[in-house]
Amino acid sequence: MKDILGFKLEDQIIDTQSAAATDLQNPQEIHFDNSKEALEIIRHSTAHLMAEAIKTLYSDAKFFVGPTVEEGFYYDFKTSAKIGEEELSTIEKKMKELAEKGNQITKYTITKQEALKKFENDELKLEVLKKIDSDEIGIYAQGSFEDLCRGPHAPNTKYLRNFKLIRVAGAYLGGDETKEMLTRIYGIAFADKETLKNHITMLEEAKKRDHRKVGHDMGLFAFDEDIGSGMPIWLPAGARLRGKLEKLLYHAHLVRGYEPVRGPEILKSDLWKLSGHYQNYGQNMYFTNIEEAEYGIKPMNCLSHIKIFDSETRGHRELPLKFFEFGVVHRHEKSGVLHGLLRVREFTQDDAHIFCTEAQIKSVIYEVMDFVDSVLKAFDFNYSIEVATKPQKAIGSDEFWDKATLAIKEALDEKGMKYDMDEGGGAFYGPKIDVKITDCIGRKWQCGTIQVDLNLPDRFDISYTDENNQKVRPVMIHRAIIGSFERFIAILTEHFGGEFPFFIAPTQVILIPIGEPHIEFAKKIQKELLKADISVKVFDKNESLAKKIRNAEKERVPLIAVIGDQEVSENKVALRDRREKRQYEMSVDAFIAELVAKNNGVFI
Ligand SMILES: [Zn+2]
Ligand SMILES: [Zn+2]
Repeated sequence: MKDILGFKLEDQIIDTQSAAATDLQNPQEIHFDNSKEALEIIRHSTAHLMAEAIKTLYSDAKFFVGPTVEEGFYYDFKTSAKIGEEELSTIEKKMKELAEKGNQITKYTITKQEALKKFENDELKLEVLKKIDSDEIGIYAQGSFEDLCRGPHAPNTKYLRNFKLIRVAGAYLGGDETKEMLTRIYGIAFADKETLKNHITMLEEAKKRDHRKVGHDMGLFAFDEDIGSGMPIWLPAGARLRGKLEKLLYHAHLVRGYEPVRGPEILKSDLWKLSGHYQNYGQNMYFTNIEEAEYGIKPMNCLSHIKIFDSETRGHRELPLKFFEFGVVHRHEKSGVLHGLLRVREFTQDDAHIFCTEAQIKSVIYEVMDFVDSVLKAFDFNYSIEVATKPQKAIGSDEFWDKATLAIKEALDEKGMKYDMDEGGGAFYGPKIDVKITDCIGRKWQCGTIQVDLNLPDRFDISYTDENNQKVRPVMIHRAIIGSFERFIAILTEHFGGEFPFFIAPTQVILIPIGEPHIEFAKKIQKELLKADISVKVFDKNESLAKKIRNAEKERVPLIAVIGDQEVSENKVALRDRREKRQYEMSVDAFIAELVAKNNGVFI
């Protein structure tokens, strides 16, 4: 761990006896900042502070585990008291009180045997102890509260001031659905007040933009328990939006030299055994039987694409060979982690596999990054890149790893793209690039990925013939630009708060005839627009103009065209651009031509 507090954390904080002493003598010495390492300590310590507060308020409370998560922490516990959102402020108040006291946080260790005895009446701590191999068990004490933990912690509760409890949820003991349900409280914590405040503002904004809420309001998608958890249904508006995105991406793939392919949803288990998925990924897969033989429902699309590559003899002139498929995959996700469209059990990847020579790795990466760039730019996303290198458990020669990693770096360098290194974070079969997009409220989302793979070509013994008529193993590059349609649409929905750019807006134009005599003209324009692939509705109900405009606004439609006597007689439309808050007129022909232009070519 880094030296972030002016002294080594391992030396001083983990060994809290001395850390606390240091702290008491020099109270100004420790300054926590918002670095990853410092936040880890603050959040972890705040989780314990929350446990202390809960124990003070509800004396029968028992605690399971309280880890840190992306933005904060949580603690799983149980008590006979009913804990809901209303109790959060009470607990928070008690936490502040305890922090004010400035109790030292001290550590001592006991043997596992002693720990089992100490917690003999606490079935949750016994569960925790079951999972600990070490014979040395750390106990942290603050005031009269003690908790089992490995640490490290802040040396005093007075450092824990900038936190907020945000959510209460149920959580199965150890994530196991067959075990009892515990209460989980989520909190956030930062080093300073300002950062906490900004984060709370961001969370409020995120709540307004929550894709589940916006998706419901706009009729994009839904979930139905009769169908099953994590299996979205796409409502008409959502299916239109998704259809537009698919169409644009499909076309962009063709322009970039990809060939569309398609494999089956289920493939024999023997094939999944050959690929290693059965052994390494089987827990996430669904299986079925056909006439005695076991089949696996695909969680990835790679295998069919390999078989398609291998369906004929391949020569070096064909490479790089790029196959793409909007592949439907199924993965078993635990019900606790399902979250709207962000985490589902069935989704469609914009998946492609590029078969190339080792010498081509660099140019292929260059091309894919250019593709990523044009798609993300079309949606005004900023993004960052991480290059993940050889993990400890890896296959393939060092020579391959060096070459592939260097090719990735060179391709990015030549494009002038900055990237972070994730040393040891690669897949076991090869290095990869992860693309993380930043949405308009500053949240990061992992979407695209490019993975260089020598493992599967080997396992499936595929080859191409080189200039000398020798069989050579190709490199296989797995890549996705948006990741999956489900996840990307969830992110887009939150990024734009439902105000989708024109080219994917589920309804692009709403025509509002003022009265009965204008309906026919409106329908004529609608037909022309539909022919030109524009999503258009006519609001021809017998309602006031004001009401129709209000309803159109609810659909977050970019353009509203009002049609009255003058428009009909002069063959024009009166337009309202909701987003630019602009009103103007246009001839019907110019209007259609403009919309067609706005609709096309955004990714190319
Ligand atoms: Zn702890
Ligand atoms: Zn793949």
